[in-house]
Amino acid sequence: MQQRLHKRMEAPGGTGNSVKWAYEESNRWGYLTDDFALCQIGTQQSPIDLKLSGGISHTHCPRFNYSNPVTGHLHNWGYGPSMTFNHPKGKYTCLPSMSFQEKAGQANETVYLTGWHIHAPADHTVEGYRSRAELHFVHVDAKGKPRAVLAFRIDPGTCDSRSSFLDDLPELVHCKDMKTMKTVKNFMPKAVLAEVGWFHEFWTYKGSLTSPPCTEGIRWFVARNVLYVGDKQMQDILYHSKYAARETQEIWQHQINV
Ligand SMILES: [Zn+2]
Repeated sequence: MQQRLHKRMEAPGGTGNSVKWAYEESNRWGYLTDDFALCQIGTQQSPIDLKLSGGISHTHCPRFNYSNPVTGHLHNWGYGPSMTFNHPKGKYTCLPSMSFQEKAGQANETVYLTGWHIHAPADHTVEGYRSRAELHFVHVDAKGKPRAVLAFRIDPGTCDSRSSFLDDLPELVHCKDMKTMKTVKNFMPKAVLAEVGWFHEFWTYKGSLTSPPCTEGIRWFVARNVLYVGDKQMQDILYHSKYAARETQEIWQHQINV
């Protein structure tokens, strides 16, 4: 699956609109075409600045069923390393899944992990601080519509920091251009959760895709713990990435941690 620069949607299920856009002009996306209007007038746009002072979430706790290894292909999503998991066409329920309660009293909702991609620098900020990169685990509903994203902020750690998530992948050199793909077998998404304390502490809110068409209806889960990587690992990510951060959006109807 070849991705083209400036035409890539944040996640599978986009409209396929071919209007060109650029991260460097993220405050103008809404003027480019009516299809991107939500980027300008939406009430739950992402990313946002999160506050430590606001506390973390005690509701919407995600429950993971990431036990099984998956096979997929490592490639470049147009802006950095990414991996898309294999599944029968149109069928998502065989993928690793996550459940959460959207509203108190409602039944749990299950969403399916179709893959991940990395933004550099990070999309979300915390108290105004922007990490060097952010990993997104994209989840869709049973019909393939993007529904929830797990966000892991990435920064270089101390001298001994290494991320086993990155260690377990083949060299990211396969992400150097957008045509090359490398098959990865037995990838364990669960291992990434362990690196941020199993996602026990997080912020959650109602948001959107962070690239055009800025579709809303996405539940975000942002890990409070940073995913610390080694200096060389950080440099590898940055080397294979292009600037991919949208300006943080004004908080409006996001219902953070509510
Ligand atoms: Zn993303």
